[in-house]
Amino acid sequence: MSDLTKRYRLINDRIKSACDQANRNVVEIQLIAVSKNFSQQAIAPLLAAGHRHFGENRVQEAAQKWPALRLHYPQIHLALIGPLQSNKISKAVSLFDGIYSVDREKIASVIAKEMFKQEKSLDLMVQINIGYESQKTGILPDDAENFVIFCVQDLKLKISGLMCIPPVGEQPQSYFSDLKKIQTKLKLPLLSMGMSADFEQAIKHGATHIRVGSALFGSRQ
Ligand SMILES: *Cc1c(COP(=O)(O)O)cnc(C)c1O
Repeated sequence: MSDLTKRYRLINDRIKSACDQANRNVVEIQLIAVSKNFSQQAIAPLLAAGHRHFGENRVQEAAQKWPALRLHYPQIHLALIGPLQSNKISKAVSLFDGIYSVDREKIASVIAKEMFKQEKSLDLMVQINIGYESQKTGILPDDAENFVIFCVQDLKLKISGLMCIPPVGEQPQSYFSDLKKIQTKLKLPLLSMGMSADFEQAIKHGATHIRVGSALFGSRQ
């Protein structure tokens, strides 16, 4: 068994225990393997082990890695989890199955236009700037409701959930529970939060999609 396959088993065990402790069913949790900075060869053992959900944070890097892998594994679900520029949206819509970092009106409008043009429907989540950090992208918590209404009513987009990255170096629990409250208020089914260092706490607070990179693939260069 490769190191990656061992770490994959370990992460799945940890997800299971976190679910047991939180009285949740493990099928409610989708592990997104964040493969940014890792090559096709590095990813291969995970595909061989049956894993299909992956996340990348750059369009260009994903374009170089994933089309070839999809030929062998058509069931791959690839999500964009990083910031998007409007000139890359056409490419992103053709390449990805989900965009979990919808973070402003302009981006949402162009995504809607491209999905219509390409006759493709992607899973969409809105990124919330849960810590009100000035350097971070994302919709501020106070604006979340109006933004989702804009996407759904004006653009006719289906918004499946919310995503956040809590401030670095702080305890994430209060941010996770704040995001959970917004999700509940807006009645959205999905919640993407929790990374290598804190996915168990995210599960405790209601995450449905955890994004795990280094705990699976090792540290990035
Ligand atoms: C890189 C990245 C992750 C994974 O981070 P790890 O700490 O390596 O698990 C999760 N979410 C986003 C948005 C990322 O860019």
